[in-house]
Amino acid sequence: MTENPFFEPWGTPFELPPFDRIRPEHFPPAFDRFMAEEAAEIDAIARSPDVPTFANTIEALERSGRQLGRVSRVFFNLNSSHTSDALETIARDYAARFAQHRMRVALNADLFDRVAALYAERDALALAEDQHRLLERRHLGFVRHGAMLSPEAKARMTAISERLATLHTLFGQNVLHDEKEWQLVLSEHDLDGLPPFFRSAASQAARERGLADFYVVTLARSSIEPFLTFSARRDLRKAAYEAWTGRGAQDGAYDNRPLIREILTLRAEQARLLGYENYAAYKLDDSMAKDIAAVEGLLHAVWTPATRKAAAERNELQAAARTDGLNEPIAPWDWRYYAENVRRTRYALDEAEVKPYFVLENMMRAAFATAERLFGIRFSERSDLPLYHPDVRAYEVRDRDGNSVGLFLHDNYARPEKRSGAWMSSYRGAESFDGAVMPIVVNNNNFARGNPTLLSFDEAETLFHEFGHGLHGLLSRARYPSQSGTSVRQDFVEFPSQIFEHWMAAPETLRRFAVHVETGEPMPEALLQRLLAARYFNQGFATVEYTAAALLDLEFHTCATPDRIDVAEFERAILAKIGMPAEISVRHRPAHFQHLFAGSGYAAGYYAYLWAETLDADGFEAFTAAGSAFDPALAARLKDIYEAGDTRDPMTLYIAFRGRAPTIAALLRHRGLAEDV
Ligand SMILES: [Zn+2]
Repeated sequence: MTENPFFEPWGTPFELPPFDRIRPEHFPPAFDRFMAEEAAEIDAIARSPDVPTFANTIEALERSGRQLGRVSRVFFNLNSSHTSDALETIARDYAARFAQHRMRVALNADLFDRVAALYAERDALALAEDQHRLLERRHLGFVRHGAMLSPEAKARMTAISERLATLHTLFGQNVLHDEKEWQLVLSEHDLDGLPPFFRSAASQAARERGLADFYVVTLARSSIEPFLTFSARRDLRKAAYEAWTGRGAQDGAYDNRPLIREILTLRAEQARLLGYENYAAYKLDDSMAKDIAAVEGLLHAVWTPATRKAAAERNELQAAARTDGLNEPIAPWDWRYYAENVRRTRYALDEAEVKPYFVLENMMRAAFATAERLFGIRFSERSDLPLYHPDVRAYEVRDRDGNSVGLFLHDNYARPEKRSGAWMSSYRGAESFDGAVMPIVVNNNNFARGNPTLLSFDEAETLFHEFGHGLHGLLSRARYPSQSGTSVRQDFVEFPSQIFEHWMAAPETLRRFAVHVETGEPMPEALLQRLLAARYFNQGFATVEYTAAALLDLEFHTCATPDRIDVAEFERAILAKIGMPAEISVRHRPAHFQHLFAGSGYAAGYYAYLWAETLDADGFEAFTAAGSAFDPALAARLKDIYEAGDTRDPMTLYIAFRGRAPTIAALLRHRGLAEDV
């Protein structure tokens, strides 16, 4: 038996996980040992003969489970970015066990008694602001897991959590299965309309699959979206579109539809046990929005102008299609193609002309330079560290004085063994209450590798978005681990990421970093102006496909009879009720809506992106009004939000930055939906 690296000190630079030595079989024994270890730590806190104090209870909880946390972060990161049959099997085996373990902690009655005793006298404990909030949130966490329920109800809560954990895991694995299973192989005569950057990436994908001389389209967003945008072959677009929107909804062993019904039924029961009418009410009770009415208010305020704008866009697209010889109504697989067509003629903008200016490497430098100018941190590459895949690059992050403050990993390319989408995560969070701990943050994207890799405007925004989350993790100055970095409310966590997107589109950034891949020349000023002018175009479509998904999420999680849901019928009925345009599909259809069903983080929470957009649009307008995207005083106040983590209430943080509460007006302007645009 070889040594298990999880049972030894790592001794690596930055205490980075020793990826070169970690193998799948190391995880199960480490999980088993460290779960037992945490259970013993919790037991010791719960049964302590000493009177409960903040230090011996709340701080002791912050200190517990460190080893389990360390190995779990490695596991879940690898299982998302670089999975294998072995890791997927372990994920399935352990999902329920982890859930059971967490519930055993959350429902430990002796432990809750101590927390509740402290909570009752919280104002007399002379706590600092972050400690006061930590105690309140710890207490609320126990209550929301069922700590105040009867023993029978607690047992049921545990059983539900275990089953849900397994269902979430299966849901994600089924989507990945359907994505891996499908590919569209093209030969030379199928390439009508496809520009060079796409051919290059599709040819690379074909070589990776042993299909030299062909071109492969996959279901990764970075492959399928440009295919639907450019392919002149309507038959191929239709086939690709149907495979893309059909993920997770194929009859057989990988069908996610029965899983959805069971997940919704269990969540509804969970909410009822805790005294809520439905899961959405339960979920939103602990959010910045606070209740269903506030979320519905926002979604409906956007829905009406968005559908109006989408209808105008459709008419333009239909006219372009007629000119192209298509006499029937345009279908969802036509939208992107004709939108590109109109964009080309109306704004003299051609995605294939724009893309050579968005070289991945340059956009990474742009993100680093923006962080340096706004927040005073520098990124320098470290090529001497053992990482889990050759695609991954590591950067040491230093502050103004040259002190190391963290490590940043960038994993940018799509791979068959990586889940789809883009996300930030961490191998270690920042904290300081037992000595300073440096964060190790990772950004994952799914860009189609080219030679060199070129991004669309949207993909460059995604790069900045995830980097904004990354900064939230890297800049954190929270003292306690559970308040660190992105551990904020779900509808606030997208604020630091979304506001950072605005700097990608800032003219200063584009002038400096949007340089041509071959000539190195900056983007011509006229092209830059056309690009910025075209940003309102197709926002009706983008807002409709997103908002419909958010409304569907809310309907699923307020449904009174989830056990009787026919997923396809439910989706049809809701979309009909809200007046979904026939030519637009919801951004994520239920059977692959991983935000909702591959975990519960965004369940009844998909609205969070739009909620945060009211903040980021309003927040960035402060920079515009100040006359500089890099206004130092505003940047310093914004940095406070990135540093604060969950140590303060989000609205309090926002008002401290902006000087007032946000309004929806800037959001409508930003999407070109305001009446006067
Ligand atoms: Zn995000």
